[in-house]
Amino acid sequence: MSRIIAVANQKGGVGKTTTALNLAAALAILGQEVLLLDIDPQANASSGLGLRGATPNLYDLLLRDLAPEKAIYETRYPKLKILPSTIDLIGCELELAAREGRERLLAQIIANVAEQYKYIIIDCPPSLGILTLNALVAAQGVLIPLQCEYYALEGLSLLINTVRKVKKGFNPRLYLYGILLTMYDGRNRLTKQVEEEVRKHFGQVVFETVIPRNVRLSEAPSHGKPIFAYDASSRGAKAYMTLAQEILKREAKLGKV
Ligand code: ADP
Ligand code: MG
Repeated sequence: MSRIIAVANQKGGVGKTTTALNLAAALAILGQEVLLLDIDPQANASSGLGLRGATPNLYDLLLRDLAPEKAIYETRYPKLKILPSTIDLIGCELELAAREGRERLLAQIIANVAEQYKYIIIDCPPSLGILTLNALVAAQGVLIPLQCEYYALEGLSLLINTVRKVKKGFNPRLYLYGILLTMYDGRNRLTKQVEEEVRKHFGQVVFETVIPRNVRLSEAPSHGKPIFAYDASSRGAKAYMTLAQEILKREAKLGKV
């Protein structure tokens, strides 16, 4: 059985794409078959893997009923594949509005390819629109990257309410897979305060691994590479590898994958 994880947070710039891309690469390096699914019209995960403007892409699957395999591409890692998006997706909200079952389109696409992968990681756009809804309907787990800043907790409760609604209305198996503290600076007092509060409230759901602020992580995408191909010895690379290991350990405990 494959594990489908939506990396979601309606706030932009919190590290969704960086996490989806580098976690997917780390899991692939650790020997897991992984599909990275980019559903953000900004297509940062796609270009972060060197796929800019790839055709066909997710748009063609959602609106033209193309076979999913046609839009799945190889990457530099044999076990990592990507289903890219492009800016074309920006119009799909309107184009899908009248479509019956429009919130299950992504789930149907994934159902056709799921058995080939152990992990399917979905990089969501920074909104709670139809695309993110599709991801939450398709996924089992929601992974929430959280930047330790003043308004983070307010945004978090909005997102968790949305997850609850989607669980109730569309996808009973959906659960909170984990909260990941990103751009972490342990010397900053506010960071520590937010961390304390999040850990107190969510306990084990919060990953032990935190992702430090690391400039190498922000440089890698412009070279079209995951951090492991850009600077494998950076703190950012080590943190994402540790996160992947923590996830594999959790899964072993769950015994489901
Ligand atoms: P989102 O997908 O949530 O909008 P991104 O992953 O694109 O967020 O991150 C926003 C910006 O911050 C990007 O320029 C990215 O390279 C940078 N960034 C993300 N994580 C880190 C980090 N841990 N350290 C430094 N820069 C980061
Ligand atoms: Mg993004």
